Amino acid sequence: MWRRSTRPSDASMGVGMASDTISQYVLKVHSRCDLACDHCYVYENVDQSWRQRPHVMSDDTVRAAAARIAQHAAAHGVGAVRVVLHGGEPLLVGRGRLRSMLETLRATIAPVTGLSLRMQSNGVLLTEPMCELLAEFGVRVGISLDGDRAANDRHRRYANGASSHRAVLRALELLRTPAFRAAYAGILCTVDVRNDPDVVYEALRDQQPPRLDLLLPHATWDDPPLRPEGAPAPYAQWLGRVFERWLADGQRIDIRLFESLISTRAGGPSATESVGLDPADLLVVETDGAWEQADSLKAAFDGAPATGLNVFDHAVDEVVLHPGIADRQRGMEGLCATCRSCPVVRQCGGGLYAHRYRTGTGFDNPSAYCADLKEFIEHMNARLSTQDDARPAPLPEGVLDEISAGYGDEEAIRHLVAAELMFTKSLFPRVYENARRAGVDTSEAWDLLNDVADRDPAAFRAVLAHPYVRAWAAEHVADDASPGGSSYGYLRAIAAAAAIRAGYAATVAVPAWDGRVYLPTLGTLAVSRAAGMVKMSIAEKGFVAYADGGVSAVPAFDTTVPGWRPTRRVETAGLSIVIEDADPYRKHKWPLEPPLDDQTGEAWRDAIIGAWDCIQREAPAYVPGLRLGLRAVVPLRADPAGKLQSSTALHAFGSIAATLAQPRALAVMMVHEFQHNKLNALLDWYRLVDNRYVEPIKVAWRDDPRPVLGVLHGVYAHLAVADVWRLRARRGGPDQAEAHAQFEKYLQDTRVASEKLAASGALTSAGAAVLAQIVKTLDHWRD
Ligand code: SF4
Ligand code: SF4
Repeated sequence: MWRRSTRPSDASMGVGMASDTISQYVLKVHSRCDLACDHCYVYENVDQSWRQRPHVMSDDTVRAAAARIAQHAAAHGVGAVRVVLHGGEPLLVGRGRLRSMLETLRATIAPVTGLSLRMQSNGVLLTEPMCELLAEFGVRVGISLDGDRAANDRHRRYANGASSHRAVLRALELLRTPAFRAAYAGILCTVDVRNDPDVVYEALRDQQPPRLDLLLPHATWDDPPLRPEGAPAPYAQWLGRVFERWLADGQRIDIRLFESLISTRAGGPSATESVGLDPADLLVVETDGAWEQADSLKAAFDGAPATGLNVFDHAVDEVVLHPGIADRQRGMEGLCATCRSCPVVRQCGGGLYAHRYRTGTGFDNPSAYCADLKEFIEHMNARLSTQDDARPAPLPEGVLDEISAGYGDEEAIRHLVAAELMFTKSLFPRVYENARRAGVDTSEAWDLLNDVADRDPAAFRAVLAHPYVRAWAAEHVADDASPGGSSYGYLRAIAAAAAIRAGYAATVAVPAWDGRVYLPTLGTLAVSRAAGMVKMSIAEKGFVAYADGGVSAVPAFDTTVPGWRPTRRVETAGLSIVIEDADPYRKHKWPLEPPLDDQTGEAWRDAIIGAWDCIQREAPAYVPGLRLGLRAVVPLRADPAGKLQSSTALHAFGSIAATLAQPRALAVMMVHEFQHNKLNALLDWYRLVDNRYVEPIKVAWRDDPRPVLGVLHGVYAHLAVADVWRLRARRGGPDQAEAHAQFEKYLQDTRVASEKLAASGALTSAGAAVLAQIVKTLDHWRD
């Protein structure tokens, strides 16, 4: 997802790398195709080498290629490799042959390193039995589709001119079924500016791809891009339109080109070879065993991808010395003078290497798409500028109002949660870069995390959405972040937790703190060393940790293994959260409880279940927010004077901390603190307060005057507390009089503070809009 990558022209898979190692291999298992797309780089470009190749990769060639991949991974300690079965059309090899290829790859590579198997297909031959085979071997498939029927028919047709659209939709339908959903990698779409971008976007979005790749059609300065009616930058316009739709949709699809440009804008890596300065990390094996460079080079000149080497006689280490590959490891130095002085070079990176080609100057040119890339990137950057009150709001219209009014229905909260996850994701490339600058090598964990993101997005999201993963990332993201090198090691624990959840075979070293390894969202393992690194071997059904001769085997989620303490979960009536008493990054203003013993843990569980029951009965309007947004409750140590305390950490979206209390009191604290969560989340996307305004404001709930933002927080939180007492007063019962008095008090305090805020002149237009909704709710109650 953020990895440095390179990708075959017709594949939707990224890849991670270190500059002298290779982690992604494209195996051309069949060199012919059942379609005859007129924009195909394999058959329709200047390189015609396919004519001399065997149709199908032989067993000997598969064995030799697998052995070379394993040899390189073992020699360089490559944590995981990805092998993409490609063509032509790979499904033409047939089921029996495909099975034997997959068996060979698995038997040769999997004992040495993590193996991720992929396929890029046109989908026409994808049947249920074929999907079963792919699912059996964990192969994930990317399907090529250029949009709606009209867009797809423009190029992707059979040799007799017939449409392939219906057959491709059938394949996608099969991949969306629950049985095969895990095998659905995404869609690859080649852009044609004559197609309506809105229609294409909607058609692709409707197929619910886990990932979408938008490829510019291959072109060079010798064979320039199609520019209808001489338009100077039609691809910028086309991509710009899709980008706007994507923003308006809450960026729900992972569009690799956009995510990469956003990541590189923040100094992070790119997830595609089409943009960015990351070195190439891909080799192709042709059906005859020839080692080749990326397929996109076929667009440059006949024989451009050739290396003259083959899997029978040459190891990967020899191939990476080939000048064509070495040239693409030089980052900025490998670019022409025009690109090096370009203001957007760190994002664009000169575009796809193949697109720079011109007879005479070779690849020492800007991209043939230079005008489009520059215009689109500048448009995107302007759109993402943080100077405005509204940042690139991923929140659709109406969500801000809905949440500002004090609540948040299911749809609004879903958008907020998705936006927060996206925000967390955007922090990681910068953290990774800071670690590198601090001299901490986390590349192994980084690549593993990227692999899990590709293979099992749900497992990846589950770990990234953990509130204290975000808190850790936020602590390490500042340009001057200096939290100490070792704390960057938490990235390893995050990657390991994601891999364990995904059942993804890998080996990774994770840090120990105070004799424990903490795996976010999963639990804590006691190890035989106080600090330093512990090697962890992850397998499909659990993991094994090795530390100073001590070995702990932990089948995932098995509570009976000595030393393994799973995170305590509370699952009740739609609420699914953890009692977070171990995360090293759970930092709150009040003292924390240490890890709970079983008895105290049970008391917490009972209290949370009781509080949830109260909220459902007494204040159901807060149920969607807590159900969808709350992920963790952090136990605070009891106050010696018996005072109830609760808090929220700025960056730990989805978490609240509280002292143990009776369910009705805990219910109020949960509602109250989750209000702070929601407002903090809005503040990630909207500037609500003018920072130049420094005059503090006196409020009823604190002795000392508060900063403007603190007052806004207080108003928004007390709005909900007033509401809970209001609803209790309306229900009647023995505490009705007290409930009524509490409601009046909170209502009055909130109203007065709102008036002071409104009069302060310190709110931005977005902040004033939020306050207006709060006041509307207050007025509604009074009426
Ligand atoms: S399906 Fe892919 S390989 Fe086959 S002709 Fe079309 S673009 Fe080329
Ligand atoms: S926008 Fe043009 S000049 Fe700038 S880096 Fe990209 S290709 Fe080079």
